[in-house]
Order: sequence, then C-alpha cells, then structure tokens
Amino acid sequence: MNLKLLESLALGEMRYFDSVGSTNDLAIEWANQNAPHLSIVIADEQTAGRGRLNRKWLTPKGTALALSVILRPEENTPLSRTVGLGALAITDACLKLGLAPQIKWPNDILLNNKKVAGILVETLWDGATARAVIVGMGVNFTKEALPPAEALNFPATSLESALGKAANREEFLREVLASFIARLPQIASAQFLNAWAERLAYQNEEVQIIAQSDEITHGKLLGLENDGSLSLQSVNGNRLTIRYGDVSLRPSA
Ligand code: ADP
Repeated sequence: MNLKLLESLALGEMRYFDSVGSTNDLAIEWANQNAPHLSIVIADEQTAGRGRLNRKWLTPKGTALALSVILRPEENTPLSRTVGLGALAITDACLKLGLAPQIKWPNDILLNNKKVAGILVETLWDGATARAVIVGMGVNFTKEALPPAEALNFPATSLESALGKAANREEFLREVLASFIARLPQIASAQFLNAWAERLAYQNEEVQIIAQSDEITHGKLLGLENDGSLSLQSVNGNRLTIRYGDVSLRPSA
C-alpha cells in the first residue's frame, strides 16, 4: 500500500506490514514501549486477526484494511467512548463515499444490514490509569475479504459490493484517520454522543442482547447512555442499560 496520502495528517508514527498476526497485538507491544499518541499500525494481511471474546476476524491479503490506532488518553478522556470514535470515523468515511452506514452497537459497522467493518478496543492499564488505548479496525473492501458463510455469526459485506465498484483503500484509510483525529478532541461532548447515537442500527426496533452465558434480553432499542452503554426499553416498560463487553446484539427474529 502507498501511504503517501497519510503524510499530511497529524499522526504519531506509522508502521506498515505486508502481513502480521494481528495489528492490535503489534500495537499493544509498541504501546508498551514508546509509541507516541496517534501512532498507527497498518497491515495488508492479518493471519490471526481477533474479534471480541476470542473470536476471529479475517483479513486476507489485498482485500481489506487492518488498522490499529494507539491513543495516549488524558486523565479525563472517556475511555468507554473510544469504540464510538472508531465507529464514527469508519461511518464518516462510508458517508463520504455516498453509502448509508449504520453502527451495530457496540462494535460493528453495517451496510445494507450486513457487517462491513468491526472495531476491537483494548486498553493497557497501569493500575487504575490507562496507559494506552488501542482502537483496532478491520474493513472489508472486496468480497474475497469475507469469511465463508458457515464461519459467520452475522451476514457480511464489502465496500465494493455496497458501492457497485471498487473503493480505494488508501483514500478510505485517509478519511478514517482524518475523521478520527478531528473527532478525538470532541469525544467528551454531547454532540459526539448524539452523532454516535444517530447512526445506531435498529433504533426503536425490538432487538435481543445475547450474553456470553447465552442468556437473552429482549427490548426496544432507545439509544445510548452517557458512557456509550446501550439503552433498551424492556417488554414491561423498564429502562435497561446494557454495558459493552460481553454481549452481542441481534435484531429480533
Ligand atoms: P459480534 O457480531 O457477535 O459482535 P464480533 O464483533 O466479535 O462479533 O466479530 C467477530 C465475528 O465476526 C466472527 O466470529 C465472525 O463471525 C465475523 N467475522 C470475522 N471476520 C469477518 C469479516 N472480515 N467480515 C465480517 N465478519 C467477520
């Protein structure tokens, strides 16, 4: 990949690899050393890309984007909103292409109700202080990026399928990072939360939240709490708060 397009952005340092296990793993290692704020790790291929809960994220060569951004948070940075920062950056880049992206809370981006991108946030702690936050992002560009149907827990798509033509990886990457940099100073604002909430998929629709224990919570999707948790209205009218981390969201059948 030609990364010249990124030169004008206010990034930290950049590391590019043709092939890696996982960009998040390299970013964690680098963040444990001396990676400056807004440093990035980019790879053309991931052989051991990770989703949440030890699920796999597929990134075959030349078909997708695998990117990890290293943040050095300030004391008052709302860490629980960093997944929203990744989601807003990817959806901003999709909107620039004329697409209609939605965020499947907490960490997936949908086009036409199919997953085109995923986000994996990992935090390095020094006791109670976050030393670094790694925002990993995987975006499918062509249909060759998609895992086989039997490996999917949700339908998948690519930018090319949604656009009807190829999307330029370097330009898309630039848009994602430009948006990420521009929105970071606003991360604690009400406008940030509103922009994030407006892009949620299934608003006012019945959804189910599947916990790791397989326990299912049903409710109508209302929006976001201040910390980025999901707000649902349960069948008996109570307001429920679903926290990020160990749950998967699906539309109700
Ligand atoms: P969930 O959808 O339950 O929130 P994750 O966000 O953790 O799951 O994403 C991991 C899952 O995404 C994998 O188990 C797999 O089904 C699916 N997946 C893996 N690679 C891709 C890809 N390139 N595009 C779309 N979906 C993928």
